[in-house]
Amino acid sequence: MDTFDVIIVGAGLAGLGAAYTLAGNGLEVLVLERGDYPGAKNVTGGRIYVNPVRDLFPGLFEKAPLERFIAREELTLMTKDRSVALTYSGNELREEPHQSYSILRAKFDRWLAEQAEEQGVMVLSKIRVDDVIKENGKISGVLAGGDELRADVVIACDGVLSLLSEKAGLQSHPSPQNFALGIKEVISLDSGVINDRFRLEGNEGAAHLYVGDITQGKFGGGFLYTNRESLSLGVVIGIEDAIDEKNPIEVPVLLEAFKSRPEITPLIRGGNSVEYSAHIIPEGGFKALGRFCGNGILVAGDAAGLALNIGFTVKGMEYALASGYFAAKAVLKAKEEKNYNTETLGVYKKLLEESFVLKDSENFQETPVVLSNPRFFTRYPEMIGNLMKDIYAIPAGPKERLYPTLRKHVSLGELWSMVKDMREVMKI
Ligand SMILES: Cc1cc2nc3c(=O)[nH]c(=O)nc-3n(C[C@H](O)[C@H](O)[C@H](O)COP(=O)(O)OP(=O)(O)OC[C@H]3O[C@@H](n4cnc5c(N)ncnc54)[C@H](O)[C@@H]3O)c2cc1C
Repeated sequence: MDTFDVIIVGAGLAGLGAAYTLAGNGLEVLVLERGDYPGAKNVTGGRIYVNPVRDLFPGLFEKAPLERFIAREELTLMTKDRSVALTYSGNELREEPHQSYSILRAKFDRWLAEQAEEQGVMVLSKIRVDDVIKENGKISGVLAGGDELRADVVIACDGVLSLLSEKAGLQSHPSPQNFALGIKEVISLDSGVINDRFRLEGNEGAAHLYVGDITQGKFGGGFLYTNRESLSLGVVIGIEDAIDEKNPIEVPVLLEAFKSRPEITPLIRGGNSVEYSAHIIPEGGFKALGRFCGNGILVAGDAAGLALNIGFTVKGMEYALASGYFAAKAVLKAKEEKNYNTETLGVYKKLLEESFVLKDSENFQETPVVLSNPRFFTRYPEMIGNLMKDIYAIPAGPKERLYPTLRKHVSLGELWSMVKDMREVMKI
């Protein structure tokens, strides 16, 4: 029987963020990971925002194997027959320190695990944790492959649908409306070809998001991020919509349809698919969060439901890293007090509340409800697409004036619906 200060389950960003911080403060830390290596099973769309976590991990991101810094954003509204794109590019996106980067988790998580190991963390891969050990009402370790491993405190960083937090009684039964399904492909492509196709210089990167027809008008969308020598391309859709009895959606079919769109095909032409993955994303937000700690246990990252889809971007990685960091801080405090009960570990929730993690979650708590409005994914792409079609059309005869063209697509009734939708949007 082995005993550690802390056992962390899951070598994703939450687990490794916690381990790195704890070992840096001299604690004996064991990380258990079921994958063949850290990052082997981890999926992300592909963009990490570094600003919120840079100060929590000083010097770390400067040497990290990040892909490209995002210098251009693009949002495309798609209907079946046409699309309208809005591109944003600003000098501040090109200035250091860069705001966000594309990232490949298999590479990044493996590297982060090595950094944690250099701090003294023991990372064991190919070990699946099956249960928690509970003694006298306190979690005192975990069961893995028949072995009992004990620690003063366990941090559950086992990702979405966390087995550990469920076993510890911290999460209620998951409901499909709080989750989305993402399918992603990594397509290898020469870096020069990427630069030419996406009009990028050097290590600049582009982040493209697509909404509308790509999810058959349902909440969700498509994404395309440029990496150094590959593209990350995928589709995200709410699980409730995907399993809708009347109109179930096969997500792999959506991805294929997305890839065959005329806006996408030329961007991925000649590339080879080198990775295909599917993963669930917790998107219930603030109202769906479970408990963050119990007697002898803390929960961080996706396991705690700390991810957000705010329409123009999906965020989860910086919440995973930061919650791992704050969980570590709470453990250090508990160690000082030589007490790992729920009350002492409760400082973790306070730290999350004071940070961007729960502030973001609270500020954007209405997002899932507001964005469940199908008009955002059907009516608006149609309306804007048709308007653009008529604005650019030059008929054989005289061209219609601009104002009547606009009125044709935006009637008074339509305007009223837009005002009502706008009032909802004002909640986020
Ligand atoms: C398609 C998609 C697109 C996304 N896009 C973005 C994006 O662009 N930007 C962004 O910030 N976020 C994005 N996210 C969300 C982001 O990827 C997650 O929020 C983040 O990965 C959570 O990190 P984590 O460490 O909490 O969990 P994970 O990365 O899932 O790590 C959990 C780890 O625990 C291990 N594990 C699980 N169970 C056990 C067990 N019983 N025993 C041992 N080990 C176990 C797993 O193997 C895994 O390594 C996206 C997610 C998806 C699926």
